[in-house]
Amino acid sequence: MSASLLQALGLGATNSGTYLGDGRWSDATGAGVLRPANPTTGEVIAEVHATTEADYEAVIARAQEAFKAWRTTPAPRRGEAIRLCGEALRRNKDALGSLVALEMGKSKAEGDGEVQEMIDIADFAVGQSRMLYGYTMHSERPGHRMYEQYHPLGLVGIISAFNFPVAVWSWNSFLAAICGDVCIWKPSNKTPLTAIAAMKICNEALKAGGFPDIFFLINDAGTALSEKLVEDRRVPLISFTGSTQVGRIVNEKVARRLGRCLLELGGNNAIILDESADLKLAIPGIVFGAVGTAGQRCTTTRRLIVHESIYDTVLDTLVKAYKQVEGKIGDPLDTNNLMGPLNSAEAVQQYLATIEKAKAAGGTVVTGGRKLDRPGHFVLPTIITGLDNSDPVVQHETFAPILYVMKYGSLEEAIEMQNGVPQGLSSAIFTQDLKAAEKFLSAAGSDCGIANVNIGTSGAEIGGAFGGEKDTGGGRESGSDAWKVYMRRQTNTINYSDALPLAQGIKFDL
Ligand code: NAD
Repeated sequence: MSASLLQALGLGATNSGTYLGDGRWSDATGAGVLRPANPTTGEVIAEVHATTEADYEAVIARAQEAFKAWRTTPAPRRGEAIRLCGEALRRNKDALGSLVALEMGKSKAEGDGEVQEMIDIADFAVGQSRMLYGYTMHSERPGHRMYEQYHPLGLVGIISAFNFPVAVWSWNSFLAAICGDVCIWKPSNKTPLTAIAAMKICNEALKAGGFPDIFFLINDAGTALSEKLVEDRRVPLISFTGSTQVGRIVNEKVARRLGRCLLELGGNNAIILDESADLKLAIPGIVFGAVGTAGQRCTTTRRLIVHESIYDTVLDTLVKAYKQVEGKIGDPLDTNNLMGPLNSAEAVQQYLATIEKAKAAGGTVVTGGRKLDRPGHFVLPTIITGLDNSDPVVQHETFAPILYVMKYGSLEEAIEMQNGVPQGLSSAIFTQDLKAAEKFLSAAGSDCGIANVNIGTSGAEIGGAFGGEKDTGGGRESGSDAWKVYMRRQTNTINYSDALPLAQGIKFDL
């Protein structure tokens, strides 16, 4: 299965991790070899040669060259290039979705969903390419006109996480491309194969449509090359998706060189269930949010804050639902399964260590709490009760299917608990009380970048700006006006009079 899938996507047993432009993949070796493993079996899928320093320089030089032409290509024409990428992804959705499931470990439905997200953002970017609007202003000086315009920024470095191995790249690169930028992608060291496949699909579509190279790929066997990219002044924007721990380092380095940083970091997302919550909606919303992608989404539901009057009922119902999921854990490529493995052995260790810490802090494992006795990195989805929201284990994002269930009395208390963590990505309330919903969405409500009513914390659509506050980094990607981060803003004042009046009425008579 995996050999034929790789072949269908233009991959082999050994692959180059460096796209140099002009249809050329580097044949250089010596920078280390990545060996992504199938999380279902632990077996290495294929090898990928990391990028050498010399190739890195060649990529940067080629990208700088490409930018000179791309920045003056009309934006709607740039949109046409991304339309072709979207069409190519439609044709390859099944195969690429399967490779996402194989290499990352999420279910086939979620793998396909990730490719669909790429198609959706391509469609969005095509429309956006005709809407790179700036304002016009009324000048205070007679015979003057003022307006602002957005120009392409330059090279965009994209460093992405393993859990959305292709969608995050497309959120960034498709918008950056219609904005006139050229992208250099450094994918997660754990998922280089999906990155190579996505790059091949899009770059072949661009070539067939007569478009130049705008997407480049590098791979890193450790972190040295990634750090070089982060510190590279030739790359004005670094878009980083990953843990808060690494994101903080990246942000400091980019700030030191006064570059621009777009950060999409960790979450610690909560759902509040009030007395009026419709449990027919809430329970599936919680289970999908907590268990989907085996708890490895930045928007995964990690905390459940339940009104004390319905706490026992909710917990009982949830445990029953979790038992149903337990029967559907297995190979993500088997479409009967709802939950696949964790991505790596280290992730299993972190899951087990967190459960031990939770128990030591007085928590009770109500369901789950162990690794499955079979090959691969399978664990049981877990519910833990009895911990306070302020407990260090609850405050920390463990990238695994662990849900902390807690009680509250008043809505103010629930909102305080929801906001009482360092992260600020996604949040939700299930309620049928209009006042409670509006309070949750008000300035005194959720402090997250995403706040939902009667929908869970995960599974965002591409149309809205995606991202979060506090330790989540403050960046916004994808829809709404997120395109602006990929452009530089310029204010223009034009004098069409015969005088030179100064602003603020200042006199300067020579
Ligand atoms: P990670 O921080 O370990 O790695 C992220 C990326 O950074 C990888 O490409 C990695 O190779 C690279 N990297 C590692 N060290 C680096 C360094 N010193 N300099 C530059 N780059 C470096 O994260 P992960 O385990 O791949 O992903 C899981 C994390 O990502 C979770 O915290 C999750 O919440 C977060 N995430 C956030 C979003 C979001 O949109 N907010 C989306 C997906 C994942």
